[in-house]
Amino acid sequence: MSFDFEKMNGFHKLTSLWRIEYIATCTQPILTRGVSDELREEIGDKIGKTLPKPDLDAVPLVMDDRAVITGNAVKGIFRHILSAQLTEAGHDICIQSVKIREEMRENLKENLKKLGRKEECKPEDPCFVCMWFGTPSRQGALHFSFLMSEKNLDEILISEPIPMVALSEDMNALIAVKGKGRFALLAPVKEGTTFYGWIKGENLSAEIIGAIKEIEDMSKKGFVQFGGFKTRGFGSMKIEITKIQKYTTVPFKLEKEYVENDLENLLSDCQARYHRFLLSRGRSA
Ligand SMILES: [Zn+2]
Repeated sequence: MSFDFEKMNGFHKLTSLWRIEYIATCTQPILTRGVSDELREEIGDKIGKTLPKPDLDAVPLVMDDRAVITGNAVKGIFRHILSAQLTEAGHDICIQSVKIREEMRENLKENLKKLGRKEECKPEDPCFVCMWFGTPSRQGALHFSFLMSEKNLDEILISEPIPMVALSEDMNALIAVKGKGRFALLAPVKEGTTFYGWIKGENLSAEIIGAIKEIEDMSKKGFVQFGGFKTRGFGSMKIEITKIQKYTTVPFKLEKEYVENDLENLLSDCQARYHRFLLSRGRSA
């Protein structure tokens, strides 16, 4: 390997702690699905229209009157994008066992080769993605908070539920739930809604901070989608990193807070480091 990524000090030493704050703004309606009947009714009442069906089929996930996106969902999206990008660049990136579909298991080695992926990493030998996002038996160094809408549900729900012909795969669950009706009624959070969240990091390297910046850039062009119904024009969100704090651990103390110009410089330096790593397998820019 000609250029390796900066190996983290492992988990036995806590060298630095990072807090990456960001806002995420919907550039399309978004539906991270809330599933309870109770919630469906409540949101139906909030919208308050006479609906052609008695119940809504899909509503956002809600906590304390705010729409939320779970940290796990955010983590999954970040992990997926970086895994796919690094695989395309020729890096050895594993596929999580839970993501291996049943029909792939028979000729697993061959199928993984086709995908350009290796089997799930052993905890002691993680690929770049597992090092930061974790393996099933070992936590990664990144922890994602819930994304929480800035405003209350009343102000961010779409005013009129969107009917949608229930044909595609992503609607099967809905059809099964209701068992009748050829269209589903969706009540997404509307475009322009702002969410807040943050990422906690332990011993972060320049490369992984740069990788997060890379996702920010993709999101600004509409390529990062959250929640369900992505093929139906839902879920695109624009991410903007607003502040990064770096803490020393011995003793615990704020070392530096990056905002505005400092933040911009840090992110562009880190992104350059990530690109160097990304391209180190011989793919040209
Ligand atoms: Zn891995």
